[in-house]
Amino acid sequence: MKDRDDMPPKDPYRFYNHGYRNRLRARYRVLSHYSEGVPTCACCGETTFQFLALDHIDGGGLKERRSLGLRSSTQLYRYLEKEGYPLGYRVLCHNCNLAMGFYGYCPHTDMVHNEEWLAEMLTIRQYQPHAKHVTGY
Ligand SMILES: [Zn+2]
Ligand SMILES: [Zn+2]
Repeated sequence: MKDRDDMPPKDPYRFYNHGYRNRLRARYRVLSHYSEGVPTCACCGETTFQFLALDHIDGGGLKERRSLGLRSSTQLYRYLEKEGYPLGYRVLCHNCNLAMGFYGYCPHTDMVHNEEWLAEMLTIRQYQPHAKHVTGY
């Protein structure tokens, strides 16, 4: 999804644009709150700010955002601040977030599922060299 509000300005001089800085600050405050300190991925501990995102714990973040009439992440951050940081959100890095969305779990924490997945990969002939590399089998 395109989130124009949250994109860095294309013109580097506009990086110092107040609107962008304020949006960035709002994002930092919200991620800090949900990480109880330095913004950190709740799964893998990633702290690189550009890799982090706010995750709606039970899913359905987009639906909720729409029902609240919020059109961008920045509007969501402002809303969360105004509401005193409602529960149900956490900070994840894009890797963990995508893995959970795509596979339903993150390989960082669910090694059982991950083993199953790797075993499945080994059955797919074209992926064998890579799987071999990954698993060391
Ligand atoms: Zn992570
Ligand atoms: Zn993870």
